[in-house]
Amino acid sequence: MAIPLRMCAINREMKPKNELIRLVKIDNKIVIDFKQKLQGRGVWICKEEACISKLKKSKCLNRAFKCEIKDEVYQMIQEYIDGQQSN
Ligand SMILES: [Zn+2]
Repeated sequence: MAIPLRMCAINREMKPKNELIRLVKIDNKIVIDFKQKLQGRGVWICKEEACISKLKKSKCLNRAFKCEIKDEVYQMIQEYIDGQQSN
């Protein structure tokens, strides 16, 4: 079965959703949607250093979620990516 495609918010590339990380805002908190099934507006980003490193500067999350994004959110994403790569 084909994996559905989603668009990365940074480089606008369409990729299978398992190659992307999904972020959602829940109770005013940005969280990683590990199972990619949470309700609400999601933002998809490639699990790639190239896109992750541009995430903060692009302010794309600020726009998508209409709020200020704390440094700890970027840190959480980076840690998640680092963890995935070492597996
Ligand atoms: Zn990307």
